[in-house]
Amino acid sequence: MSVPRSDAFVFFGASGDLAYKKIFPALMAMTKRGELEMPVIGVARSGWTVDQFRARARDSVQHHGPIDEAVFERLSSRIAYIDGDYREAATYTAIRTVLDTAASPLFYLAIPPNMFETVANGLGTAGCTKGARIVVEKPFGRDLVSARALNATLHTVFDESSIFRIDHFLGKESVQNLLVVRFANTLLEPIWNNHYIESVQITMAESFGVNGRGRFYEEAGAIRDVIQNHLLQVIGFLAMEPPSLSYHESIRDEQAKVFRNIRPLSPDDLVRGQFRGYRNEEGVAPDSTVETYAAVRLFIDSWRWEGVPFLIRTGKSMATTCTEVMVTLKDPPLINLAPGENNYVRFRLSPAVTIAIGAHIKKPGEALMSELAEFQVSHNAHGDEMDPYERLLGDAMKGECTLFARQDGVEAAWAVVQPVLNNAVPVHEYEPGSWGPAEATKLAAEVGGWHDPEASAVQ
Ligand code: NDP
Repeated sequence: MSVPRSDAFVFFGASGDLAYKKIFPALMAMTKRGELEMPVIGVARSGWTVDQFRARARDSVQHHGPIDEAVFERLSSRIAYIDGDYREAATYTAIRTVLDTAASPLFYLAIPPNMFETVANGLGTAGCTKGARIVVEKPFGRDLVSARALNATLHTVFDESSIFRIDHFLGKESVQNLLVVRFANTLLEPIWNNHYIESVQITMAESFGVNGRGRFYEEAGAIRDVIQNHLLQVIGFLAMEPPSLSYHESIRDEQAKVFRNIRPLSPDDLVRGQFRGYRNEEGVAPDSTVETYAAVRLFIDSWRWEGVPFLIRTGKSMATTCTEVMVTLKDPPLINLAPGENNYVRFRLSPAVTIAIGAHIKKPGEALMSELAEFQVSHNAHGDEMDPYERLLGDAMKGECTLFARQDGVEAAWAVVQPVLNNAVPVHEYEPGSWGPAEATKLAAEVGGWHDPEASAVQ
């Protein structure tokens, strides 16, 4: 069934950080591709005129690279601005008026989550929701109960098919590549199970701290900020069954099945850390126990993955900035030919994109012995890559939902982490620039330890 393309884009939080960092550059890129032929209406309470709002858009675009004046002029000419508080009915009346004859507006809520309900209800009451779609930003709740409450609230105004929950990881080329590499290559699928795979590790490390967002981070912590959403989504792609091409929701169905099959975490599967100095950050409590690092070990209770540990580790102020997946295979039968390191498949998701296979080849010399070599594909930018926000906004405008989190998937992911939220285990201090607290070693002991991604530029 074809769905109508959006014919107006209204974004709340137009004066905010996310709009500046991501939304204006994405709108500019879409304008350049000729994919934003609609009014763009910003809503905020900064007391700006439309010209001040356009100046903000220009500033954002310039901040991200050289500006193409002709393209910016096309974007700028579509921009409108409504100044108003989200708690006031007049704001929505003004939106209704500006929307005029638009039949399929797209509303984007780049706003604090405590405002989602107010805005959804305001739009509903003002009669703005007929034929509309809504995009919401994470966090989708802060635990299972609040996620259910948020979904229930959104559903009073919008159908699930009209709700697009953004997890920008799903918009990344490198994350989608996990699906393509798995299912477009006959090579991998036969070994992608517990007969051949010993363990899976995901490291998402950031060498920087909270970058002045301490107040926000105090409400989140590493488990809520990236494990419940981004990193479980990566596991969804790594572990799902082959999606059928015969119906539209098959990828999201398979993802949700993975989340439902993950055994809820126990405190024994978690190590939390906090980098030294975090408590001195602005907006952070001097006795904060919020984790800036978390390592978890989880298991997927399915035919394919029974007994295979999936290890996730994420942290701020770590040794390097990179996100990498390491899939380690079991020993071959003739291990005297291939002693030591196992075969592996390595996916570098960022900053550079790499897919590598670690394989044994003959070691030069007299003896019939092997050494480990790496076959590597490094992805060089072709110039036609899309930033995740550009891709996801474009998809939402087309009504294409595959790369957005679905209600049941979000709730199942919260059910996985729910038992270890709220200080389930003590937080250990770690040195900035390290790989996190030593206590995390025990989680990976049975699979030969944590794989530390190399920082080299090529990798
Ligand atoms: P900001 O605090 O920077 O921006 C919030 C925006 O909402 C501002 O434009 C603010 O206007 C507006 N606003 C808040 N309350 C009202 C109100 N009552 N009436 C009118 N306007 C209001 O937040 P972010 O941009 O950082 O984040 C927005 C959302 O995106 C959040 O859900 C966040 O979790 C999510 N997100 C943010 C990321 C980021 O990197 N920033 C990354 C991923 C997700 P004013 O400035 O005038 O108060």
